Amino acid sequence: MIAKGDGPTNSPRLVTTIDDTRAVIALVRQEGKTIGFVPTMGALHAGHISLIDIAKQSGAYVVVSVYVNPTQFDSRSDLEHYPRILEADLEACAKAGVGLVFAPETEAMYPPGDQTRVIPGPLADGMCGSSRPGHFDGVCTVVAKLFNIVRPDTAYFGQKDAQQAAIIRRMTRDLCMPVRIEICPLIREEDGLALSSRNVRLLGEDRRRALCLYQALCTGRDLLLGGDMLPDAAVARMREVVSESDSVVIDYLTIVDPDTLEPISVPRGRVMLAGAVRIGDVRLIDNLLVDLPTS
Ligand code: AMP
Repeated sequence: MIAKGDGPTNSPRLVTTIDDTRAVIALVRQEGKTIGFVPTMGALHAGHISLIDIAKQSGAYVVVSVYVNPTQFDSRSDLEHYPRILEADLEACAKAGVGLVFAPETEAMYPPGDQTRVIPGPLADGMCGSSRPGHFDGVCTVVAKLFNIVRPDTAYFGQKDAQQAAIIRRMTRDLCMPVRIEICPLIREEDGLALSSRNVRLLGEDRRRALCLYQALCTGRDLLLGGDMLPDAAVARMREVVSESDSVVIDYLTIVDPDTLEPISVPRGRVMLAGAVRIGDVRLIDNLLVDLPTS
């Protein structure tokens, strides 16, 4: 009999194989419970926990995956330096009431001979897709595999990775995957920096510099809300805000339609200001959704 952790007082069950994960989930399903799934790369912070909390609130048995997926990294250094702290992640999951943590080895996710990939469409072309070739192929492939292993009723993703969220939503529709996708709000530090597992690599002055991305997005938002600036001019001003911080390299800054991710020329309705910057070898992303008058 496979025991199942369940609830804030129990530690989550740590499972590393696909077969054991399926066995635990089959038992949970026999009890009539639904499965809520939060895929992560670990180094859990309050942003991840907010997704788990939303999944828990639905009454589901919550499964969290902790897997640093090599196929979505376009930089070997980023993959090597990505924080890995499974013990701390398990503690955070215990506090949050997670039932099962699936932490597979790469041999399980990409067994010898593995060659099939899920390639997204044009949603993956711009923004992070332009500067991280193949990144979203890796994301879609690992998420498709994880969905096939966990078979969740609902999977929870963060608005922090807005392009990823849009692509995953599209993938599940295009490939008829029987899973509901819920996009959860972006969680920030008190000063506005978007929480990210990579923030621990921002040392000294770099932590202060990192704030310029959020400040640029806020500047763009305020200019659009002011009502007399076109998106191109607002983006130009956003670039100036980032340029005021030395040692910060702009990857992209843009104002897009949140569904199509196409840059907008007319500021109307719901828009998304988004950007990515590099500070040393740390790449940060952020975005803001803004509701503008519709006419
Ligand atoms: P990661 O471990 O970076 O792959 O992130 C796992 C999930 O947590 C993704 O759906 C992210 O969008 C989400 N996430 C990461 N950071 C935040 C944040 N600051 N606020 C909300 N969700 C987040």
